[in-house]
Formats: sequence, structure tokens, C-alpha cells
Amino acid sequence: MGMRPIIEPFRVHTVQSIAMPSREVREEALRRSHYNLFGLRADEVTIDLLTDSGTGAMSTRQWAGMMLGDESYAGSSSFFRFEEVVRDLTGFSEVIPTHQGRAAEKILFATLVDDGRVVLNNNHFDTTRANVEYRGAEARDLVVAEGSDPALVAPFKGNMDIDALRSSLEADGDRVPLVMVTITNNAGGGQPVSMANLRAVRQVCDEYDIPVFLDACRFAENAWFIKTREDGYADKSPKEIAQEMFSLADGCTMSAKKDGLANIGGFLALNDERVASECRNLLILTEGFPTYGGLAGYDLEAIAQGLVEVLDEDYLRYRTRSVEYLAEKVAAGGVPIVQPPGGHAVFVDARALLPHIPLQEYPAQSLAVEFYREGGVRGVELGSLAFGIPQEDGTEVPAAMELVRLAIPRRMYTQSHIDYVAEVVLDVATRAESMGGYRIVEQAPWLRHFTARLEPVPVGSGG
Ligand SMILES: *Cc1c(COP(=O)(O)O)cnc(C)c1O
Repeated sequence: MGMRPIIEPFRVHTVQSIAMPSREVREEALRRSHYNLFGLRADEVTIDLLTDSGTGAMSTRQWAGMMLGDESYAGSSSFFRFEEVVRDLTGFSEVIPTHQGRAAEKILFATLVDDGRVVLNNNHFDTTRANVEYRGAEARDLVVAEGSDPALVAPFKGNMDIDALRSSLEADGDRVPLVMVTITNNAGGGQPVSMANLRAVRQVCDEYDIPVFLDACRFAENAWFIKTREDGYADKSPKEIAQEMFSLADGCTMSAKKDGLANIGGFLALNDERVASECRNLLILTEGFPTYGGLAGYDLEAIAQGLVEVLDEDYLRYRTRSVEYLAEKVAAGGVPIVQPPGGHAVFVDARALLPHIPLQEYPAQSLAVEFYREGGVRGVELGSLAFGIPQEDGTEVPAAMELVRLAIPRRMYTQSHIDYVAEVVLDVATRAESMGGYRIVEQAPWLRHFTARLEPVPVGSGG
């Protein structure tokens, strides 16, 4: 007997219509936004896979929680519920709410990182890197070699290279204020980190007496991969696994817009009371009083409930399956993707699909534009537009990989939406050879991919 489909473990309660713009409207929208998909209006997009951040659907219990929100400026009961859930999950005693993940990063790095320091990570996410560099420090990526090989199938491609970690600490240990591990490794393709690897990071950092922080945005998806892929965890619950992951760290930064199942929010949690107190001083300066930290009381309720629901096994099984389902469909049609698919997104390998476009002409951006042009599907470039490093002589060091990320919002799209996306991707792939590259016309000094203006390089112009 065949396996029954893994169904969405929820039914629809409220609906929101989506736009079906014509091809002409899409062409005009591309011109107007200077071929930067961040410049599109959401009502010009049919299926929005730009990000899984803050875009998911909340549950009836989360909406009910919002009605219970206590909006007291100080000492809100919603904060104490939030704090209790975060403490129970992470074991960290100091819980500092922030308006989103990057605010937690900014506050942590402003406290621990300054000029000339080095922060080590498996792969810095873009806001994390920018916040480290903004402090005048170096953001060094130490992911295992297999993490940079898109086609290679391995269970934990997000792991930190422990030998590289050790040599970095040997050479620069006195300049390293903290080591971070991003779970799952977003910039590296949403790939998980194993418990064994986290344990090894902990051990090496203990030798050098350096604190370990998790960039924990997708901790529940990471826990699910440990459960299904790592020996000894099959019978543990996702919550037990998550608790064990957090027990190996000294603190975490978190965007509740991912595995908090909320539309906004984040937090910084840690054990060091002295560092926490410095962080709270900064929090008051930029976010707000420590019992709300830039959030409404109702947001704290939604996050507290989300952090419980996200560890539900039926949810995690469906969540990872819907990503895998899209991956299987496009891979079966010959489209190169990062293998195995990660927890929140399918990453299409533009370097492999468009070998004729030079890396200096942003092949992944070109592919992202075509997905939109073809079917109103908006993904995001995670290649040299996002991660290329401009040099003083005007050239650029390209990114390690040229990926287009199709991120699946949580609990939002159905299987037929995913089928539609797969067909758009496959249709675009059939005309890969006719696609050309792009050049940047205007860019910002940080996080340029959000606002850069581009123009197509005429095909056959030789660059
Ligand atoms: C989203 C994300 C962040 C930043 O969180 P925001 O809520 O968007 O500020 C940091 N790290 C990782 C791995 C992320 O995915």
C-alpha cells in the first residue's frame, strides 16, 4: 500500500485573496522596480516566496492570545507569560524581548563586539554579518566544506568546521568575543546543524573560555532534522531536542518571525546577568522598557503561543514535507537545487542552471527575475548581489554560491500553490539558455540587495 499524503494539519479559518497580475503588469512592475524584487508591491505578486520571515499564518489560539494582551508599560502579564515560555524552552535565565531578530543582534554585538574583533559563525546571516561589520569587526564563516557544495547530499551541511574553529581560535582567540552557530543555517541553504556538532563547538569554546550563542531563528526545524537524521534522537520529542540544543549554548538571538510563528518580534536570551544588564540599558535606548522591548503586549502573547505550537510533531512533519515536495518536483524536472532541501526553503542553484552568465552579472538575480516574469512567483537572490564583496578597484569577489531562495511561509500555502510554483520553475528552466545577466546601476553601502537598482545586460554583449 502506498503512503498516504502528509496533509496540512489545520483547516482554513480565514482567507485572504491573492493577486493574479497579467504578464504586461508584471513586465511593467519589473521595469518600475529596477529589476529588484524587493521593489514590487505585494499586490503585483501571485505566490510570495520572498521570505518565510513574519509571513506565516497565525493560529486561532494565537489570535485569541492577542485579545489577552496586557498593554501595561511596565510589568505586563503578557511579558511574564512570554518569559516563562522562553525560559522553559531555552533554559536561559535572562529574557530580553526585541522588535525582531536584528535588534537582538544589534544589542548583543554593541555590548560584546568592537573594533578589530572577530565573530565566528557557521554562516552569518546577512543582518548578522552587517551588524558585526558595523561594529568594525570581522564576520568569519566556518561552515564545513560540504556546506558549500550545493549538489552534495549530506544530513548536516550546516555544521561548523571544528578544525577551522580550532585554528581560528588558536590564531585569533584573544580577539573573539563570542562564537555563533546559526540553526538552521539560512545563508547556507537552510541546512541543519547536528547535536554532535553543537556539542563539539561547545567543547572547543570551553577550552578557550569563549561564549557560544545560537542564532536560533529556526530552532524547531533544526530539532526536527536532528530527530529524523541523527542517531539516538528518533524517540525524543522536538521540544526535548530543542532544549538540549539550547543547553549547549550560553545564549541566543531569535527572530520570532520564523519559528516563533508570529508576524513580528524577537528576543535575546542568555545566562550572564552582567551582560544582560548592559543589553537592557541599550534596549531602553533603542527598543523600549525591558518588559516589552519594542513589542505590544499582544505580540508577546502571539509569540509565546507560537513557540509552543512550532514544536508540534504534526506541524513539523508537514512543514518539512512541503519544502521537500517542492524540491522533489523541481529536481525531478532536472532543475539543480541545494540538496537535500533545507527546512524552510528550496534553493535553486543558478550557477549550475545558468553557466553562461558570468558571476559578475548576477545569474541568481536573473533567475529570480524570471520566476516573477513567468508566473508572478517572487523568490529572493542569495548570491553575489546579496553577498558579493566590492573591492577598491571596482571589481567584486563573487559569493560562494549563486542561489535563488524560494522560502515557504509557515501554514500559508496549500499543495496546489506549491504545484503551481513547481511548474513555473520548470517552465523557466526550459529557456535558461536565452537568459542574460544584470548590472548594478545604484547601490547602498550595506545590505545593498534590498535597494539596489539593476538593468539587464544585453544578451550577447560580452559583458
Ligand atoms: C531572519 C534572520 C535573522 C534576522 O531576524 P529579523 O527578525 O529579520 O531581524 C537573523 N538570523 C537568521 C538566521 C535569520 O533567518
